Amino acid sequence: MIVVMKPDATAEQVDHMVAHIQSLGMSPQVLVGTQRTVIAAIGDERQGLAEVLEPGEGVDKVLPILAPYKRASSELTTERTVVKALGLSIGGVKIAAIAGPCSVESEAQIVGLAKTLKAMGATGLRGGAFKPRTSPYSFQGHKEDGLKMLATAREETGLAIVTEVMAPEHVPMVAKYADVLQIGARNMQNYQLLQAVGDSGKPALLKRGMSATIDEFLLAAEYILDRNNPNVILCERGIRTYEEHTRFTLPLATVPYLQDKSHLPVVVDPSHGTGKAKLVAPMSKAAIAAGADGLIIEVHDDPEHAMSDGSQTITPAAFAGLMAACKRVAEAVDRTM
Ligand code: PEP
Ligand code: MN
Repeated sequence: MIVVMKPDATAEQVDHMVAHIQSLGMSPQVLVGTQRTVIAAIGDERQGLAEVLEPGEGVDKVLPILAPYKRASSELTTERTVVKALGLSIGGVKIAAIAGPCSVESEAQIVGLAKTLKAMGATGLRGGAFKPRTSPYSFQGHKEDGLKMLATAREETGLAIVTEVMAPEHVPMVAKYADVLQIGARNMQNYQLLQAVGDSGKPALLKRGMSATIDEFLLAAEYILDRNNPNVILCERGIRTYEEHTRFTLPLATVPYLQDKSHLPVVVDPSHGTGKAKLVAPMSKAAIAAGADGLIIEVHDDPEHAMSDGSQTITPAAFAGLMAACKRVAEAVDRTM
C-alpha cells in the first residue's frame, strides 16, 4: 500500500502516519520526494487498511498495490488452473464446449439432446433444473426431477453435467447429481450460496453478475476459493448497458483481462450474452479468438417451443456448424476443440 502525503503535509503528519502504519503491523518506508512524501506500507494490505489510513491528517490518497482478491489473483501462482469434471476439462489447450437446453424439459429431451451434442463434440451438458426467472409466473424448472433427468443423460453419454443451484440449502441436493455447480448471474453476490458451493468441494461455474465489475466478479470467486475449493470457472455472460440491440452486451475484452488478473479459466456464454440465436456462432468464434477456455451454449431440438430462452437458442444443426467454425479459429490461436 502506498500512502501519498499532500504537498504541504508537515513532518509531524508524516511521523504520525509512520506510527499509525506500524501500529497496524505493517512496516513503513518513507520516500521523501521534491514535491511530496510518500510512505510505502509493507505487509498484508488486504483487510480494509486503506480505509483507516485515508482519513489521516495530511494524507492525499492511499493506493493499493496488491489485488484485493488473493486466491483468485495471478499474483498467487504463475500456473493456470485447469478445472476437471469427468471428461470435461477447462483451462488447458483444448477448449471446452458445454451445450444443452436452457431448461431441462423432459427425460427424452435431455437424453436425446445429450447424445446428439456429444456426437457433435460437446464436452459438457448444460441444462437448468432450478431456473431463475424474471417473472414468478414463468416456468421455474423441474427441480429435483430435472436433476434426475440430467443424471440419466450423464449415464447414457458420460457427459459432465453443468447445472444451476440457486439456494444454499439446495447445494447438497444439486451436488448429488451435478458435476459442476453453476452460480447464475443473479446470484453472483449471494455470499452464502458462494460459501456453500465452496464447501461442497464441487467445481463451480460462476457467472458474472449483469452489473458486476471485474473486481466484484473476482471477489465473488474468492468466496468459493476461500472455502478451500480451488475449482472455479469464471463465465462472462454479458452485462447491462444502454444498448438494446442485444439482450445484454457481451464484453470480450474481459477474457484476456481476467486471464491476466487471475489464474482461473474463463468461459464465455454467447447465448445469454447476446439473446439472439443468429449472434451465437459469430460471438463464439470471437470468444475463442479472444482466448476463451470454453463456451457454454444453449441448444434445443426445437427452439421455437423451448420452455425458456428460445430466442437465443440454436438448433443441433447450427451447433454442429458452430463447432466446425470454432475448431478452425481454435487452431489459429494454437488451441484445439
Ligand atoms: C442460464 O444459464 O440459463 C442462466 C439463467 O444464466 P444467467 O445466470 O447467466 O442469466
Ligand atoms: Mn437460459
